[in-house]
Amino acid sequence: MSISHPLYRGRFAPSPTGPLHFGSLVAAVGSFLDARARGGEWLLRMEDIDAPRCSMAAAEDILRTLESFGFAWDGAVVWQHQRQAAYADALLQLQKIKQVFPCACTRRELADSLLATDGAAIYPGTCRLGMAEGKKAQAWRVRVSPASASAAPIVFEDAIQGRIESDLSRDAGDFIVRRADGMFAYQLAVVVDDAAAGITHVVRGADLLLSTARQIFLQHCLGLPAPFYAHLPVVVNAAGEKLAKQTLATPLDSKRPMVGLISALTLLGHKPPPELVDASLDELWAWAIRHWRLENVPRQRALPVAEKSIMQETS
Ligand code: GLU
Repeated sequence: MSISHPLYRGRFAPSPTGPLHFGSLVAAVGSFLDARARGGEWLLRMEDIDAPRCSMAAAEDILRTLESFGFAWDGAVVWQHQRQAAYADALLQLQKIKQVFPCACTRRELADSLLATDGAAIYPGTCRLGMAEGKKAQAWRVRVSPASASAAPIVFEDAIQGRIESDLSRDAGDFIVRRADGMFAYQLAVVVDDAAAGITHVVRGADLLLSTARQIFLQHCLGLPAPFYAHLPVVVNAAGEKLAKQTLATPLDSKRPMVGLISALTLLGHKPPPELVDASLDELWAWAIRHWRLENVPRQRALPVAEKSIMQETS
């Protein structure tokens, strides 16, 4: 992959824990169109870092589905399972500057902690100044604010959601970068991978908005550039739950890509004209690239869609 810096290099980074569903299609469409409409590159990264939850079969199925929907990515697919050495280097760098500390707390010991908005325990700081005698390190955590300094909140301008401000010690606490099972955490992997690939623009679902502050913090610590961010509204069902396998969102039907694409475009504020319903996939993409404007995407974090209607339209 070239290390020159294009004006725009975006990416789509699915986790191969199951087949692509409508929610992931929306993120793929948004990131792809934003890159292509601005003459940019669009890369694909398989986020198979959480080995027990991921499978090669699911990854291959995702690649085939993306192809059948007419997505074309630049360069080779990046696989997180092949990038352990880069994550280990980043951890070493954090260890050298004492930005991380070993933590001996078990899940049970953290059971009473306050919860962050994403449901994870906010670390109460037990091992921050050292583990109690005889305790064994389980994980590595990043210190989100030096004990002394008055840590400034992380502030960034999201191209869709506007100004986002997060005080990490309140919103996340010292978060995990290497898990007790030895696996590197998503937050560290994403930051290392985006920087290594020279990603300039991250367009993804607003369910990751709270992760972004943590990622910007890690970029600061590791001396990496921060990309521009745009968080698309996530599709939720009538109960306000994200469409995911758990809520029975149906896998996309590769044989009927037009139906899924038209639904995704409509949801993103780019309803194709009726004559395109019977057009070819290429014609629909050409129209979408010509008409894509990030400012037409609804400025919402969640968009409720009747799950049944998506199932009927996309299956
Ligand atoms: N792998 C993540 C997911 O599927 C996306 C990560 C990202 O776009 O930064 O939710």
